[in-house]
Amino acid sequence: MTITTHTVGDRVIETTVPVGAHYVEGTTLDPSGPLATGAIVLDEAVAPLAPWSARLTAGQTLTIVDVGGNQSADFLVYNAQDTDERYSTPDTLAWQKNAYLREGSILRSNLGRPLMTVTGNEIDRQDTIGGACSKESNTLRYGFHTEHQHGCRENFLAEAARHGLGARDLVSNINWFMNVPVEADGTLGIVDGMSAPGKRVALRAEMDVLVIVSNCPQMNNPCNDFNCTPLRMIVTAPTDGSDHA
Ligand SMILES: [Zn+2]
Repeated sequence: MTITTHTVGDRVIETTVPVGAHYVEGTTLDPSGPLATGAIVLDEAVAPLAPWSARLTAGQTLTIVDVGGNQSADFLVYNAQDTDERYSTPDTLAWQKNAYLREGSILRSNLGRPLMTVTGNEIDRQDTIGGACSKESNTLRYGFHTEHQHGCRENFLAEAARHGLGARDLVSNINWFMNVPVEADGTLGIVDGMSAPGKRVALRAEMDVLVIVSNCPQMNNPCNDFNCTPLRMIVTAPTDGSDHA
């Protein structure tokens, strides 16, 4: 945790919140492009700290671009036709017998069915163990001075409400571009990222899906490199007429 000192009038405040956190002048931004072939059907920027959602039909691919580098894209996915079927970390990890997500990983539902497949990945490994930040966890971990900050859970709740979903529908999530190493003894860490501006992950929908994303607002640990930056979301559709590219 990095403690910085701010002077406000005649008061000196020690805080874990960096100055000018979204985002610092001179930040390298690389919007990159789609990591899949096909026609672009949606192309949107997600502002730092903000939520986002979209529906994809089976066969479409979502490319998530880490525009500013080391920016965690907290991610949930549901069966768009029946949102009681949703992403399951234990099903996904147990099925593939590995703790990390990589190219080829299949994101499985609580029914064990494929929701999406990782068809492209430009960093070594992706996390689905570290969970999402929240106002409550921030206050417990970093102190009461962070109580005014919203977290990914609040982003998820706000975006989920647009689709008729609520707190009961939030499950353990994926953290694209967040670095959560699992040590030999099983210890977890949330440490400096391994991503960089313009790095991408591509996810092909295996059924019609609803995707909900939080552009993580966390500024009290290194998961966003203490510099919250935008994400770019690009949806492509196969152009060969088949459902699956
Ligand atoms: Zn977060």
